[in-house]
Amino acid sequence: MDHFQLRNGELYAEDVPLARIAQEVGTPVYVYSRATLERHARVFREALAQLPSIHLAFAVKSNPNLAVLRLLGAQGYGADVVSEGEMRRALAAGIPAQDIVFSGVGKTGKELAAALEAGIGQFNLESEAEGRELSQIALSMGTRAVCALRVNPNVDAKTHAKISTGKAENKFGVSYDRAAAIYAEFSGLEGLNMRGLAVHIGSQITDLEPSRLAFMKMGELMRDLRAQGFTVTHMDLGGGLGVPYKAGEQLPGPDEYGAMVSAVTADWDATIMFEPGRVITGNSGVLLTQVIRVKEGVTAPFVVVDAAMNDLVRPAMYEAWHDFVALKPSGETMTANIVGPICETGDTFAMGRIIDKVEAGDFGAFRTAGAYGATMANTYNSRALVPEVMVDGEKYAVVAERIEPEAILAAERVPDWLT
Ligand SMILES: *Cc1c(COP(=O)(O)O)cnc(C)c1O
Repeated sequence: MDHFQLRNGELYAEDVPLARIAQEVGTPVYVYSRATLERHARVFREALAQLPSIHLAFAVKSNPNLAVLRLLGAQGYGADVVSEGEMRRALAAGIPAQDIVFSGVGKTGKELAAALEAGIGQFNLESEAEGRELSQIALSMGTRAVCALRVNPNVDAKTHAKISTGKAENKFGVSYDRAAAIYAEFSGLEGLNMRGLAVHIGSQITDLEPSRLAFMKMGELMRDLRAQGFTVTHMDLGGGLGVPYKAGEQLPGPDEYGAMVSAVTADWDATIMFEPGRVITGNSGVLLTQVIRVKEGVTAPFVVVDAAMNDLVRPAMYEAWHDFVALKPSGETMTANIVGPICETGDTFAMGRIIDKVEAGDFGAFRTAGAYGATMANTYNSRALVPEVMVDGEKYAVVAERIEPEAILAAERVPDWLT
């Protein structure tokens, strides 16, 4: 459920007509709904209510906007970060350092030191070399790093190849077979305080069975480690739950996920940690765009919109589907190819799709754009960096300004040996 609904023939975000935002802020622009974000945060938490001890760390990479982080922090969410930049954002949003988890295969020595300095709650270690380096850094700073070991369970999440992370050939985590030996080594390092295991098998997961298998394997590993006398008090099950991208699509939701997790972890006696991203933010945002013109095509007309792959890269990168709707639908439909202005054939949002009939000047929205949308935007073709808006009831605020190409140009220099 979300708060983007038709009212009197016009699409609203909560109590604000989206066409008003498109006119006042300009397009393209992302719009997030506060009520939807809060609802998704609450639904996910409530789905895990049967578990005796949980920790929720919002996956910042899905939507790192400062206002979004502030809102989720206020809902009791910590943060899962994958760079020092994301950690600084989470801290700037007021999320306590203790509630931050640092994931990622390529944390640099500088990032590890900065995170130790900030006092973050948990490092998810992804290799032997990383654990040894972090131990050294912690010792040199006179502290100990609280850690979990990220394990690659060799399970196929059955999602798009580019967002599958738990197969043996993927770069993430240490191999399942070597995990116990590495945990043993790390437990002996002076600078580390090993407290658990972590797993994350992929994103946009729409079948719970691979996750269940992965979690079962993690449970076995946990029991092995405990039997050998090692401490395991925290089990981080990552994120990855998928969301519907097509109106009416039925997927396992937080309730089914929660029931599965509580069945698998019933006898674990550990704090279960989660790193949800998309399930919180995906359906909480839309990308507004204006039709520049409609151009003849061989198979169907091209609806050329002012949003492009630099604003929303998911269709170009993952062959992802985003529903497109007119902000003021007439009731008529058309079959169209929806494309952006960028000089790449990949700058295509939809081919041969039946959509609300639109013409030049009309406004439309790509739905389910709150996750991996603005966060992946860039300035390709010297386009502006897309702005972001948050709606709250009858009001809205620009929560990220449009960064014009002039500002990007101003950061560039011509060396004097070229003049
Ligand atoms: C991307 C990522 C997540 C969040 O994934 P979603 O599909 O957005 O829930 C969680 N944990 C880790 C380690 C990630 O890389």
